[in-house]
Parts: sequence; structure tokens; C-alpha cells
Amino acid sequence: MNAEIIAVGSELLLGQIVNSNAQFISEQLADLGVNVYYHTSVGDNPARLKHAIEVAQKRADLLIFTGGLGPTKDDLTKETISNSLGTTLSMDNEALESIKTYFQRVNREMTPNNEKQALILTDSHVLKNENGMAPGMLLKKEDKAYMLLPGPPSEMRPMFETYGKQAILNLLQKKEVIHSRVLRFFGIGEAQLETELEELIVNQTNPTIAPLAGDGEVTLRLTAKHESRDIAVSLLDKVEKEVLQIVGEYFYGYNHDSLVEVGFNMLKKKSLTLSCAESLTGGLFQGQLTSIPGASEVLSGGVVCYQDEVKKKILSVKESTLKQYSAVSEQCARELAENVRELFATDIGISFTGVAGPGPFEGQPAGTVWIGLSMKDGRTKAFPLNLGGGRNGNRKRTAKYGWHYLIKELS
Ligand code: ATP
Repeated sequence: MNAEIIAVGSELLLGQIVNSNAQFISEQLADLGVNVYYHTSVGDNPARLKHAIEVAQKRADLLIFTGGLGPTKDDLTKETISNSLGTTLSMDNEALESIKTYFQRVNREMTPNNEKQALILTDSHVLKNENGMAPGMLLKKEDKAYMLLPGPPSEMRPMFETYGKQAILNLLQKKEVIHSRVLRFFGIGEAQLETELEELIVNQTNPTIAPLAGDGEVTLRLTAKHESRDIAVSLLDKVEKEVLQIVGEYFYGYNHDSLVEVGFNMLKKKSLTLSCAESLTGGLFQGQLTSIPGASEVLSGGVVCYQDEVKKKILSVKESTLKQYSAVSEQCARELAENVRELFATDIGISFTGVAGPGPFEGQPAGTVWIGLSMKDGRTKAFPLNLGGGRNGNRKRTAKYGWHYLIKELS
């Protein structure tokens, strides 16, 4: 089966967004053994979209569209496809109900144009949207299939993974089910991870292993295909075990887990409290923690100790430490972590001090960082980092490393 991905949206052609949907879907189709020979991007223009459909019909069996399923006038994907195929649109009552429920829940009035989102190509198979309003759909017509997916990646990706892939397998008349699992790693680069797992990745066909890097983290998507769901899951378990035997020290979670959530859950489970002394991160670490409901169960509080005066006055860092070693030092990180833990009477104190950049500070290059971790039992550790990014990249990476070391300590 050959597929063509048609991304609809003028913002793609204006360079305002990158066509990451095409990249994602291509990767997924490769897993299914479906060839993608063309990516097309077309603006919100019915005549040009119609032309793109006609061209794609000549060279693909499966046409996958993303974008243009929303409520506004320029969202014309469904209308244009239905017009082009000579079919009609009909109301999907289940989708309409879920849109109405959404508006009731957020206490907003539903405008008539929102109903348009519940229209589907007549006789199509609906792909539920669990993260937004507009449903996706799959229509088989003559010897072609047309899959319509919403534009926002946060809606499109889970829809494709949960319903789209299976719908394509059904098209391929394969009895198999697809089961995927994402393993998340931090503290190891993509190249190193791939090198360590090279043999496994190259020789592995079911499940497949696909690495992906982003935002300082690396993920591995394991995808198994089998007629039995239980066997697919056990194939995943087996490969996961092999992967973790090699790079388990960097592993922190599954699927949509984040370092912050994993760290928070560990603290909560162990009934531990935390306080923070943040110099270069300026509150970023605590901001991440407070974004999670229930953060007050674990976070006692903290100090943004940006200037040396604050480090001395509020967190009792010794004058001699700052003079002899400077604020960006192992000694300072240790004192900050120990003293903030005592000040807030918590089980754990964590500290961040470093040179965010862009320039060096007191002879130390940008990206030089120390993270301190003080535990109630009297143990204190300090971790050095040498980050190579820009100012805010260094600050964000530092906060992530804070979670990484905390998770390792609690594991
Ligand atoms: P909405 O209900 O939000 O209008 P939609 O299905 O009509 O959804 P669009 O209006 O085309 O989708 O796009 C909504 C947003 O989704 C865009 O502003 C963009 O952020 C994102 N998006 C759309 N197409 C793509 C794409 N091909 N790749 C990455 N992001 C995309």
C-alpha cells in the first residue's frame, strides 16, 4: 500500500509552522510497512486542495489529510474532499454530543459553527478525538482510502496511535494488532543511546525500536505487531528488558511521563518533603513542580538566591566559601542544599548554582553548573554539569538534571 500525506493549512506555506504532522505520520506508516512516496502541503484553498486530491489519487492508495477540520470558515478539508469525491457530509451524533458536553463543562456558549466539527463524510468510520473536538475519519471509496485527521499535533498524534493505525491495519486486512510503548531516557544523548543499542536496533524486527530525540531527552518507541494482544505485550516486555539491561541507568518513565511527574510521584509515594535553593534556575524547578496538582504535599518552599548577599544572609552560605571557591562551586552547592533543607525543615534540599551564560563568570565558562542534593540522613551530594547551550537552554537543562538526580537518588 502506498500513502500520500496531504497537510492542509496556509500557515504551513507561510513558514509559520513546520509540517511535523507529516514527519510523525510517515514514521508511523513505516512501522506498518506502508510506503510514503509523497508529502504535499497545500493552503486553505478549495481549488488547490481539490487539485492536490486529484494528483494524489493517481499515485497513492491511501490519502491522509491533516488540518482544516476546525469550526472556522477557512477549515474546508471535509467539504472539499466530499465535493471532490461526490459524497455528502452527515452529522455524527456521538461527536456532536461530546462537543456539547465540552462546552457545558467549560461553561462556554456553543456557537453554531462548532456543530460543523461533528460533520463526517457519509459512511466513513469515525476516529474518536479524545483530546479535542473534531473527530477524524476514514472513508473507503472505490479502490482508495481517505483518512482525515485534525491539525493540532496534540490531537492528531494520540488519535492516530489509538485509532488510526488499527484502521490502516484493517485496511491492509491484517488480523494483527499494533501495540506501542515509549521508553523515556534522560542524561544520555541520542547518538550514544543508538550506539549502545545498535545491535539490538538493527536486528530487531518485531517489535521495532525507533529512537527519537527532543528537548534534551531521548525516547525509544517499541512497536509490536501480533494477532494476540497478550503476545504483542509480552514481545514488548522482552525487548524492554533487553534495552534496560544496557541503558537502564538513564531510563525514567513510559509514554507521556515527564521527569517532573515521575519525581513528584516518587516524593509523594515515599512521603518526602522538598525545599529548593535556586540561583541560576531562578525558580524554574519549583515552577515546574507547582504546575502539578497536589504539589503542596511535597514542596515546602524555596529561595531564589540569585545574588551572593542572599546566599549568605538567607541561606547562611559562608563568606569564606564564596571567597575561596566562588558561588559556582561544589562547596556552595552543598551548603545551599544543606541549609535550605534545614531552613525549611524538609527531608530533602536541592540547590542549583551555575553560569547560565552567554558569557563566562569569574573565569568559569557558560554552562558550568553544580547541583546539590542534601538528604535528611546527613548525606549530601553535588553533581557537576558542563552544558553547552544558550542561557535559557542551560537553565532548562539544569532543572531537568535536578529531577534526574533526584529520581536516581530516590530509585
Ligand atoms: P482547529 O480545530 O484547531 O482549527 P484543525 O484540524 O482545523 O484544528 P488547523 O486549523 O489546520 O487544524 O491547524 C490548527 C493548528 O494545528 C495549527 O495552528 C498548527 O499549530 C497545528 N498544525 C496544523 N497542521 C499542522 C502540521 N501539518 N504540522 C504541525 N502542526 C500543525
